[in-house]
Amino acid sequence: VLAAAAEALRTHIRDIHDFPQPGVVFKDITPLLATPAAFSTVVGALSDTAEQLGATVVAGIEARGFLLAAPVADRIGAGIVPIRKQGKLPGRTVAESYALEYGTATLEIHDDAVGPGDRVLIVDDVLATGGTAAAASNLLRHGGAEVLGLAVLMELTFLAGRDRIPSLAVTALLEI
Ligand code: AMP
Repeated sequence: VLAAAAEALRTHIRDIHDFPQPGVVFKDITPLLATPAAFSTVVGALSDTAEQLGATVVAGIEARGFLLAAPVADRIGAGIVPIRKQGKLPGRTVAESYALEYGTATLEIHDDAVGPGDRVLIVDDVLATGGTAAAASNLLRHGGAEVLGLAVLMELTFLAGRDRIPSLAVTALLEI
């Protein structure tokens, strides 16, 4: 399953150079999303991870993480928690800001989104510096949840994102 998922990613992820800024190679998952068999293989591999960890909640990071978290949660019979950018959630929220290369970003969850007893797997498309995953995990833990780990399609290993999230078990379907 893992080998098939890695192959699906190698075939259906497109590199877009200099997006959103010069020097960045953006990993575009839209060809994967548009290819049902490949997408299903990848969702299956993420779901296996979620099931093995015993996740009861799948947390997706806006926006591409939503596209992955929803089918995984549906397959394993878990709930979905959206981790959103600032100002998007309608209810009372908890926020966490973190440093980007230029400036800062803020993520939010509803203050009642998770609680003690929830076993959460965070899902996203790419692990880069790890700042996003660290903030997401802080928010979930602040809510009282147990954060089991992070599952991503691709890990940009040269950015050493894992070092920023030592408490999380990281599953990457493809290391780049
Ligand atoms: P980071 O916080 O540096 O680990 O960045 C991870 C977040 O930014 C994820 O939500 C990714 O969707 C996005 N991201 C970072 N680098 C890339 C990239 N090269 N291609 C696509 N998305 C990226």
